[in-house]
Amino acid sequence: MNVIVTGASKGIGKAIATKFAEAGNDLLICARNKEQLQNTRDEILAAHKGVNVYCMPADLSIKEEVSNFANWCLGYGVPSILVNNAGVYLPGNTMDEPDNHLEMMMNTNLYSAYYLTRKLLPAMIEVGRGHIFNICSIASLDAYKGGGGYSISKFAMNGFNKNLRHELKPHGIKVTAVYPGAVMTDSWGGFDNSNNRIMEANDIAALVFSASNLSIQAVVDEIKITPQLGEL
Ligand code: NAP
Repeated sequence: MNVIVTGASKGIGKAIATKFAEAGNDLLICARNKEQLQNTRDEILAAHKGVNVYCMPADLSIKEEVSNFANWCLGYGVPSILVNNAGVYLPGNTMDEPDNHLEMMMNTNLYSAYYLTRKLLPAMIEVGRGHIFNICSIASLDAYKGGGGYSISKFAMNGFNKNLRHELKPHGIKVTAVYPGAVMTDSWGGFDNSNNRIMEANDIAALVFSASNLSIQAVVDEIKITPQLGEL
């Protein structure tokens, strides 16, 4: 199976890509930083002999690069699984965050997934199978302090996910929204997680992988996962 994971050079995307490679799937991955992306590819290849990992540096906040990435992916065949994971988190409040933050996060967190999915869907619909995971956030579900433009972009991602799920029912394509709470990745900068206060990227990967392994007629609509002690 070909599995596309966007933003797979680190964090949650890397964990998800690695999990699918462990199970023998071929990967198509992207991120902006070429060196980090290639290092991830080499790391996965070294640990999982027999799988293919193809990588393409791409800035998915730019529509033309999304289109190029989609065409490149389709060159390897019709994807079985698409994980729309690429995203950025800039904390702020709607009333005083810099003007361009919302635009930047809408481009990266929503339009990347929107345009990539639209480019891949005709081929997926033609074969009548596939599974799309949209990495939303608990910030897609409720407002919180410092949410601002990030939360707005993730609410939009949730709206995209819900419409996609509705539209794709008759086409045999599953759609799953993933709503993680705090996960220890670079998004959390220098946060000290030595007491395991927040979750691991592998927790999200394990759930995504297991949701991809159900009978053809079963869909996990939503995965919500938060730290045992609750959000910070
Ligand atoms: P991360 O560690 O910062 O990784 C983000 C990944 O996305 C990297 O591979 C990054 O590589 C890539 N990326 C960022 N902007 C991109 C762009 N314009 N085009 C292509 N790739 C891009 O972040 P993370 O914490 O794993 O977050 C992954 C997803 O989970 C995001 O959608 C985030 O909103 C969501 N999420 C995270 C948490 C959390 O607590 N960590 C909680 C809920 C939801 P480059 O920088 O090289 O492009």
